Amino acid sequence: MTRLIVLVAFGGLLAGAAGGAGAETRANLALAPMVSAGPDRVVVQGGRAYLDGVARDDGKPGGALQAIWTKESGIASVTFENADRLAATARFSSPGEYTLKLTVDDGGRTASDTVNILVEPMPLKRPLQPVPVTPYKISGRFWAPRFKALIVNWIPHCIRKLEDPATKEGGIQNFVEAGRKLRGEAGAKHTGPVFANGWVYNTLESICLALQVDPQGHAEVAAAQAEMRKTLDDWIPKILSAQEPDGYLHTMYTIQGRKRWSNKHDHEDYQAGYFIDAALAHHELTGRKDARMYEAAKRLAGCWVANIGPAPKRTWYPGHQAMEMSLVSLARRVEEVEGAGKGRAYVELSKFLLDGRRDGEAYDQSHLPVTRQYEAVGHAVRAVYSYAGMTDIALETGDPDYRSAVMSLWNNLTTRKRYVTGGVGSGETSEGFGPDYSLPHGAYCESCASCGEIFFEHRLHRLYGQPRFVDLFEDTLYNALLGAVDLEGRNFTYTNPLDTSGARYPWHGCPCCVGNIARTLLSLPAWMYTTDDKGVFVNLYAGSAVTLDRVAGTRVELIQTTDYPWQGRVTLTVNPAVPTEFSIRMRPPVRNASPLYRTDAEGDGFVACAMNGGQVKPRKDGGYYVLRRTWSAGDRIDIDLPLLPQRVTADERIAAARGQVALRRGPLVYSFESVDQKLDSALAADSAIMAEWKPDLLGGVVVLKGTFSDGTPFTAIPNHARLNRGGRSTVWIRAASP
Ligand SMILES: [Zn+2]
Repeated sequence: MTRLIVLVAFGGLLAGAAGGAGAETRANLALAPMVSAGPDRVVVQGGRAYLDGVARDDGKPGGALQAIWTKESGIASVTFENADRLAATARFSSPGEYTLKLTVDDGGRTASDTVNILVEPMPLKRPLQPVPVTPYKISGRFWAPRFKALIVNWIPHCIRKLEDPATKEGGIQNFVEAGRKLRGEAGAKHTGPVFANGWVYNTLESICLALQVDPQGHAEVAAAQAEMRKTLDDWIPKILSAQEPDGYLHTMYTIQGRKRWSNKHDHEDYQAGYFIDAALAHHELTGRKDARMYEAAKRLAGCWVANIGPAPKRTWYPGHQAMEMSLVSLARRVEEVEGAGKGRAYVELSKFLLDGRRDGEAYDQSHLPVTRQYEAVGHAVRAVYSYAGMTDIALETGDPDYRSAVMSLWNNLTTRKRYVTGGVGSGETSEGFGPDYSLPHGAYCESCASCGEIFFEHRLHRLYGQPRFVDLFEDTLYNALLGAVDLEGRNFTYTNPLDTSGARYPWHGCPCCVGNIARTLLSLPAWMYTTDDKGVFVNLYAGSAVTLDRVAGTRVELIQTTDYPWQGRVTLTVNPAVPTEFSIRMRPPVRNASPLYRTDAEGDGFVACAMNGGQVKPRKDGGYYVLRRTWSAGDRIDIDLPLLPQRVTADERIAAARGQVALRRGPLVYSFESVDQKLDSALAADSAIMAEWKPDLLGGVVVLKGTFSDGTPFTAIPNHARLNRGGRSTVWIRAASP
């Protein structure tokens, strides 16, 4: 009896060892040792796999367990170190798939388990450069209305809430109170939770980004921006008044005199990171001329550098990551402004904060050293922020273990834990991930997790220079994040389930997402473009005019004239300041970027491409179509992108979507709404689906129309426009049996 109980416990602990066995079999298995080779993972070539096998014998006497690691399969050779120990390492001679086997012998019986290891090629020697958000225009029937709603309604609403003393979650007044305390005045009081500065900083950053958007004569946009400038003038001195003389900034800590770095759950890192992000956006907004926020960010980061680090400084890691990314962004800016090497200490601090994560819990990704984490676990926002910060370290230092860990985590997310909308976090653990393939439609998919997913995959794109990461964050942007705010810009949602009747709301008891959504959407130019020594990467297609300061030594304006993704034609006009030779790499979209989902029709690549009016067939390199020439102002590329209605089916292992089908067209995933039809009908695999522009519906959308198998008509709308008319909305619908 005792033995059986122990084995059941092991069965849960050691994946695959005793799963599904009946009591009888368990009793027999009990005679053999229990063994686990650990989770599947990715190793980047040049790095090593850390093999941490787990084995237990059945408790009977008879000597120690003998372990041996061997190559079970794989395309090239594997070199083991300490192959006869549970904790071994392996190196691989070529990229490709490998399976390694751990065999354990207890002197009588043997047992074994395998681990799959995907060896990825080395990333780029010189990663791609991100593009700062500088003055830009947004146009076209898709994005322009979304930006207008953010600028005219959503951000002003957030400002009003944060200035309202009745807002119990806290706002700008906390900074005024902390400033009073610092001046020695009595009676300072803090309002809201310990992380209440976060939404102020994110909103401030959203304001700075919104002010980079050219109003193009729209009076309402210009009026909202004029008000936002007044807000900046009012808020910045208040915020800076709350910064302590040594640079520390955290209003609750200052007001209540709490001991710094004594409780990892107090969001010191998270808030500091958001402050730095806001400061960098403000610095950029002013053409890097007004350095008040920038200098304050340096003082704040400098305070951390002075206190946190190898002995005799303090070892510390936070319960909620964010600053890890922001420190690297600050380092990059400081190096640009002040010279090479000046930002190094911030990168080192970022790595130190990540390296310190151990002996904790999966909830905040401190259960294992970050470079030994291969599975996305815990609170989803913390997780993707952690992984994005780790990718920054991989980018800045080339550390092989960081490279391998971020690719492992990304692989696990992409192949086992990602929703068809690009959202992450099923909510089965606290605001976090569930087991592999467990993706119930009642998804948590916090809006902030969508932001973090974009941050993470954008960094991976820079690390590898590949479009496969863009295919994924494009999905997240359009389908998980964009619909977090309603079409009017008056309500938002914290969670983004795939089947819901939950209406959006103007505010939340934890308003962490309110500014994060806006700052991430308004950073669109950064998601659209990256650069390298040879030229520009065009990652996303959106009506816009964006100027890149440094392309092969010149300034280049890129104008995209398009209604994409309503229509597939994109005209890209290239305006270099002086005629210059460089490459333009254009991303051909791939719609099956996650192996969890399959579309039934070809919707990838380009339909056609023309250069100054003449058809061309660009060379394909690294997944991009490349045009290289000496570009002169007015040069024009016309691209036709496929926008076919596609049926999507999920991997059979996703139980919630079994026997169901979803629809997409281009980057947009669709939803079926109860206001348009009954939602218990089934869709046949061979029924025609038509796309139709409906100017009067939801501000103008392309709907997908057809007939259910029971003969009734259906209309599906883009998922981001869901629940603007009440009722229930679902991405997945029953597939008719063939
Ligand atoms: Zn949030």
